Amino acid sequence: MTTITLVRGDITRQSVDAVVNAANSSLLGGGGVDGAIHRRGGPAILEDCRRLRASQYGKGLPTGQAVATTAGELDARWVIHTVGPVWSSGEDRSALLASCYRESLRVADELGARTVAFPAVSTGIYGWPMDDGARIAVQTVRAADTSVEEVRFVLFDESAYDAFAAAADLD
Ligand code: ADP
Repeated sequence: MTTITLVRGDITRQSVDAVVNAANSSLLGGGGVDGAIHRRGGPAILEDCRRLRASQYGKGLPTGQAVATTAGELDARWVIHTVGPVWSSGEDRSALLASCYRESLRVADELGARTVAFPAVSTGIYGWPMDDGARIAVQTVRAADTSVEEVRFVLFDESAYDAFAAAADLD
């Protein structure tokens, strides 16, 4: 049984086994959560990401997939990088967003992580509407077959927190 918790705050400050990064497919850093994780986690994360690019992911990590690295100096053991879809009003990409949560939990299970912190993937630079992103996040985690004991959604601002609280209630 996975418990879902919601906290308002900064994902780089969480004490959990694994922190999920809303990465881009280059794995080489970006803005938003990605920039914050690399800044606080230090260069070891980028070194691992470069190794992944040089080995399995020559063309980058595909959208909807997830891969783990060290968490460097974060108070976590691993960072699980996942690439959310960019919002499109003309095309339904929700299966890819759901896949980010499912694949991140699959990687967490492989690692043996019991507590996992997620940001609201795709809802920043990638433009996904927060209410819909929250609904997909909560529904996908609830439906997931995982040994993770706690999924903590870490919401950066009040409106994101409210959207996740509503999604968690309604479901
Ligand atoms: P994406 O490119 O997938 O949209 P972003 O990092 O731009 O990813 O944003 C994803 C969500 O994370 C947004 O709702 C943004 O407000 C939030 N966010 C940004 N920085 C942090 C942080 N340090 N901790 C938690 N959430 C954050």
